[in-house]
Amino acid sequence: MNFDFVIVGAGFAGCVLAERIANLLNKRVLIIERRNHIGGNCFDFYDENGILVHKYGPHIFHTNNKNVWDYLSQFTNWHFYFHKVLAVVEGRKVPLPFNLNSIDLLFPEHLAIKFAEKLVNKYGYGLKIPILKLKEENDDDLKFLSEYVYSNVFLGYTTKQWELNPNELDYSVTSRVPILIGRDDRYFQDTFQGIPRQGYTHLFQNLLNNKNISVLLNTDYKSIINDLKYEKLIFTGEIDYYFDFEFGQLPYRSLEFEFRSIKQPNFQETAQINYPNNYDFTRITEFKHFLPYNSEFTTIALEYPAKYERTKNEPYYPIPKKENDELYQKYWQLAQKLKGKVYFVGRLAEYKYYNMDQVVASALMLFNQIASE
Ligand SMILES: Cc1cc2nc3c(=O)[nH]c(=O)nc-3n(C[C@H](O)[C@H](O)[C@H](O)COP(=O)(O)OP(=O)(O)OC[C@H]3O[C@@H](n4cnc5c(N)ncnc54)[C@H](O)[C@@H]3O)c2cc1C
Repeated sequence: MNFDFVIVGAGFAGCVLAERIANLLNKRVLIIERRNHIGGNCFDFYDENGILVHKYGPHIFHTNNKNVWDYLSQFTNWHFYFHKVLAVVEGRKVPLPFNLNSIDLLFPEHLAIKFAEKLVNKYGYGLKIPILKLKEENDDDLKFLSEYVYSNVFLGYTTKQWELNPNELDYSVTSRVPILIGRDDRYFQDTFQGIPRQGYTHLFQNLLNNKNISVLLNTDYKSIINDLKYEKLIFTGEIDYYFDFEFGQLPYRSLEFEFRSIKQPNFQETAQINYPNNYDFTRITEFKHFLPYNSEFTTIALEYPAKYERTKNEPYYPIPKKENDELYQKYWQLAQKLKGKVYFVGRLAEYKYYNMDQVVASALMLFNQIASE
């Protein structure tokens, strides 16, 4: 069978491009997916108790990009949901990002008032300050506070998550953990936030609901690509794999999830509780908080960071370090030579710590480029 486009990977990058190409360009698309399902890392499924579980970790959609929100809203209704995260610090559960409410919960009143006043006077109410920036403070009280947050909230979690010291990681990662000088307990402050009302997998099914799109699951594209006739290839897998690891492997961090079904209405007070200082897992997610349910059971997932071993587990997070970026740039140079024939897009192909909205934006941008060629 002939195709105009072959797309490797049925995650957001692959499925958004398939939808645009099939609908707007009226071209025939084949998606090849290694896993036994569509949706990539956003795949969700109903477990034995009827609770929608995110197989590859909790996914909360949030964006300030109205174009992306409007685009996806054609394929799903949203359950309006604000994500709230607590961290266990010295045995107490405090809001994350660490904010003025967290300070109130952990320090005696006179200290909490002093810290809050100094933070507001120095930076202004409502601002977010990366913890590593606050650590550079000269003021004794703010220095004490920054050291406290660094060692009790940031260091343990980051070390468990990456098996690296925070200053070995790029600023893009460390700046993701700020102190919020305010009392907004939501984890994200984006304009648009939500969970697809019927789940992510349903959203993906809607994206792919077009007679121009065929999907082949359980197949590594390399096992079949030479037998196919097609014009162009869009690749959303690992870029180093595409080039047969010519310059060596790009490093990733992996995860393991331990799912537990419990016969009680709820396990914890929010969807996500982080454990920066205790246990081997980093966080516990309770999926029941994402959507409304009427069930006497609940499902939780304990999340353990893990070494990535090719063919044994999943490449979840690109590791944002200077030398890894330099290695990626070498592959990117090779990719440039295939311009117009092969396109690389998505978290694995671009080796970027993308959120869902950024991947969708990147795919929509690539579509505009393809459509104008
Ligand atoms: C634990 C975790 C939690 C996250 N939480 C959030 C969140 O709350 N909010 C948010 O916005 N983002 C979140 N993200 C990020 C989000 O998962 C990604 O932005 C998104 O999934 C990236 O989409 P993608 O299409 O680029 O990649 P993927 O979803 O990884 O899709 C790529 C697909 O390509 C397939 N593939 C790869 N190689 C081959 C091959 N050789 N042959 C065939 N198929 C192949 C893979 O199997 C995969 O299905 C989270 C990520 C993780 C890991």
